Amino acid sequence: MKPSAASLLIGAFLAGSISAQPAAEAASQDHPVNYARRCEPPFGTAFLPLPPGAVEPAGWLRDWAESARNGITGHLDEWHPTFADGWKGIPIQAKGAKADGTGWPLEQSAYWLDGAIRLGLVLHDGALVSKIRLRLDPLVEGVNRADFGTTFIYWKRGYQPEDFDSWAHSQMGRALVALYQGTGDQRVLDALSKVYSAYPAKMGNIDLGGGQISGLCNLDPMLETYSYSGDRRILERALQAIGQPEVAREIQEWPAGHFAPGHMVIFYEKIRLPAVVYPWSGDPRHLLATVSAFKWLDENHMLPYGVASGEEFASGIGAFRKTETCDVTAMLLSASWMYRIQGSSEWGDRMERAFFNAGAAPAARDFQSMCYYQSPNRLRSDSLPCEQPMCPGPEGIRFHRLGCPTVLCCVGAINRIIPNFIIHMWMATRDNGLAATLYGPSTVSARAGAGVPVRVTSTTDYPFGDTIRLTVVPREDTAFPLYLRIPGWCKEARIALNGARISAAPSAGGFVKIARTWAKGDVVELRLPMQPEVIRGFETEFPSANRAYFAFEPAEVFQHRRLPYASVLCGPLLFALPIRDADPNTPAQDAKWKYALDTDSGRSDGNIVVMRKPMPAHWDWSLDAPVVLEAPVRAFDWNPTDANALPDNPVEGTASETVRLVPYGCTKFRISMFPVTAAAWGSVQQ
Ligand SMILES: [Zn+2]
Repeated sequence: MKPSAASLLIGAFLAGSISAQPAAEAASQDHPVNYARRCEPPFGTAFLPLPPGAVEPAGWLRDWAESARNGITGHLDEWHPTFADGWKGIPIQAKGAKADGTGWPLEQSAYWLDGAIRLGLVLHDGALVSKIRLRLDPLVEGVNRADFGTTFIYWKRGYQPEDFDSWAHSQMGRALVALYQGTGDQRVLDALSKVYSAYPAKMGNIDLGGGQISGLCNLDPMLETYSYSGDRRILERALQAIGQPEVAREIQEWPAGHFAPGHMVIFYEKIRLPAVVYPWSGDPRHLLATVSAFKWLDENHMLPYGVASGEEFASGIGAFRKTETCDVTAMLLSASWMYRIQGSSEWGDRMERAFFNAGAAPAARDFQSMCYYQSPNRLRSDSLPCEQPMCPGPEGIRFHRLGCPTVLCCVGAINRIIPNFIIHMWMATRDNGLAATLYGPSTVSARAGAGVPVRVTSTTDYPFGDTIRLTVVPREDTAFPLYLRIPGWCKEARIALNGARISAAPSAGGFVKIARTWAKGDVVELRLPMQPEVIRGFETEFPSANRAYFAFEPAEVFQHRRLPYASVLCGPLLFALPIRDADPNTPAQDAKWKYALDTDSGRSDGNIVVMRKPMPAHWDWSLDAPVVLEAPVRAFDWNPTDANALPDNPVEGTASETVRLVPYGCTKFRISMFPVTAAAWGSVQQ
């Protein structure tokens, strides 16, 4: 038996075709495809994204989004000059800033501006949208006034950004694409088109080792811009950029598994790029390259919360390995592109796993502070997991208003996580349907069928409950297909249409299609029963390729190691043994956590009991969670160190006890990669 954790979520889509698998056929001849743009790629994506604001969060998800608005996302510019003055073309009193207004603040403040404009749009919050437009509109006007050949760094006349500035430039490109999609303001598209029609094709490499940031990440805002503007010069430059000999050579190495375990943010950003070009190039190697990269991450660096390790370089699998919050943001962005291109429900599973777990843990419950790094097990905030003397420094595992106050990328990037998930909860299909791609309480307002406005309200506690009630309200009776994602972990989905049971057997792409004429008040009830699942795997060594970078780590962690662990999932949620906290940096001193999981490996649910109670009136990821698992454990003498985060082998422990596990995202201190007893480990080969 192979450990299942290592093969996290990969599977069906790798085994299948490498070409895009549209979830739907093309639209009928009598009406154009809703949400098709001026230029659609010759190899059409499966889904067409809806503009930011089409999906509005409700319930617990709205509470969380509003916490972000009331906390970091809505106020970051009031807390540090990087965010107060980024992209103004003025000197900034901040680390990594250059006198001409370029350098680190370009990247960090673009992250924030992009997240904040998206959050303002999805919440329909006029005050937040206005606040961010006060920052973005002068940039748009500056570009539109400047000579042809300018860039978003328009205040430096004739400047062609390279290296870090070109990478930061790509982040602003994304913010402006979101602004255009959300507002339809032609001046924004004019600015995007002007910049990208003259952007140098030689914008950077795609080399995954060494941690080199690349301007090649401008490719996705470029191609978005081309799809709206139709300026062929943009497409030509994009294809030239991906076709550079050294770029093409590198991409060809990926399907053979030749990857350098580089800087994880850059890794997640770069591996997306071949697939982003695929709908325009039609070269199947482009899609295969990206799919291969995700598979390689699953096998070598994936942590149970659905995002790879990155401290900041790839650091293998382990209980104290860390993930930078920027990795969570970049993973969700790249996965959302793959979802849009391939249309396979597996990408929805990946996004939910990352969002509901790794997306929640680094934000404080009130969203007034955040943490640069998270790790599966977190026992203290002063050490364990190891505080690094570098990247970003000793504040990396503590919560602070600015994340790590000396390196401000993560406090900028965290603002993109919530709105990007919400934007992708529904997408349009090429047969003029709507697809429920990610679940949670929300309302989508979109055109379907022959362009008829339709509202679909999702009433649910998901993922804290397993029932999703969709109320469909078309402006008038109208025919269109509704596609419902059936998660890969759900074996017995049930669907009722206006109270009558219908088939819930998904297609090969993982969706159930309901094609009919919809009338006001039609109700689809979807039940996605969640069973506890114990995944088992091994803590591995740090990659030897990163030996010099991690020179401060004990030598043992670079030696071959296969330390057994188990983690507990239920639906898309990872569960953890919570260590109570007085605040996100102060764990309770009397907490008991020295346990090995003692589940029954012979049972699919591991003999774990699920207990549910009503959702709280306001959602803040409290430890008093609405879904709790009771799991059997055995206490043992466990004193984890950085070198030995987990025991070498299954342990015996004392008498069997029962502990309560809560969703990982509710915890600030926890165990989520557990040592195991022999009973829990079963027959996994070591
Ligand atoms: Zn970061």
